[in-house]
Amino acid sequence: MAHTEGVPPDLSLADAVTIGDVRAAAARLAGVARRTPVMTSRSLDGAVGASVFVKCENLQRVGAFKFRGAYNALSRLDPDARRRGVLTYSSGNHAQAVALAASLLGIPAVIVMPDNAPRVKLAATRAYLAGAPAGSEVVLYDPAATVREELGGGLAAARGLEVVPPYDHPAVIAGQGTAALELFEEVGELDALFVCCGGGGLLSGCAVAAKAVCPACRVIGVEPELADDATRSFRDGVLRTARNPPTIADGARTPYLGRYTFAIVRTLVDGMMTVSEREIVGAMGLLMERLRLVVEPTGALATAGAIRAAREGSLRASRVGVVISGGNVDLAELSGLLRGA
Ligand SMILES: *Cc1c(COP(=O)(O)O)cnc(C)c1O
Repeated sequence: MAHTEGVPPDLSLADAVTIGDVRAAAARLAGVARRTPVMTSRSLDGAVGASVFVKCENLQRVGAFKFRGAYNALSRLDPDARRRGVLTYSSGNHAQAVALAASLLGIPAVIVMPDNAPRVKLAATRAYLAGAPAGSEVVLYDPAATVREELGGGLAAARGLEVVPPYDHPAVIAGQGTAALELFEEVGELDALFVCCGGGGLLSGCAVAAKAVCPACRVIGVEPELADDATRSFRDGVLRTARNPPTIADGARTPYLGRYTFAIVRTLVDGMMTVSEREIVGAMGLLMERLRLVVEPTGALATAGAIRAAREGSLRASRVGVVISGGNVDLAELSGLLRGA
């Protein structure tokens, strides 16, 4: 059984996503996804003790890398599946990404969202969905009472919809990997690449790209201490879970790695680490003040990880990549977080 505490990864799934898949995704995304900028900052270099290259997926369409995987997955559907439509479940950014991809491709989409999702994400999802074909809608559920995969699976079966999960899907993972592919294309070799980890889709895709184009680059996944299931899964070699973890990094509240992502993370990722809530807010402040980047808490995880690794002396690297995953943060929440720091 997938998603069961204590189960080892099925390593035969680790080659379900190849660099060829990532390159094919990049070709589909060309001219549709933004080729996001790579930024540098002397303050960040100083904090990490290395040259740091920041891949700004907060400036991607829908404000997060999720557009890459969603558009790649939807554009691979055959005409029949496109006509019937897609369904997904997400706490926010993947919902927006599927909604926008569906409206661009003319595919009906049903989006299952928790009723406590950030307001800004709920409103944005509804706005993107307004451009999608008839039959498209947002379905809300109570996350304390409902398992979203079960609700979503039931709806999809009843309506004949193709499920596009937020991370555990080869086409989604391949799409996310294009972020790292672009980073390497732009800056060349790196000694280390820091990527945040929720369900592990972005981390898996970036690891596939990194190990193919720059095998010597160490790929490090970063999680909140309060949602450290992937770090424990990586260390123990069996699946560990974290239900509704209370971290501010809502993109990392996913309870477990997926079947594909656990296999890929275990096979290709070099290390996993955690950072505190305080370090996340500190990195958000630094990115805003020094790089003028608005970053959501989950988006700051990789930066916080690089800074922590440098401070602990475990980062022996002169060229470091950091993927900023997203920037969808409510302004009131942002000012509250920064005031509390
Ligand atoms: C979804 C999301 C994540 C986590 O991505 P996974 O592929 O689930 O690991 C991180 N940051 C942001 C901004 C996200 O939207």
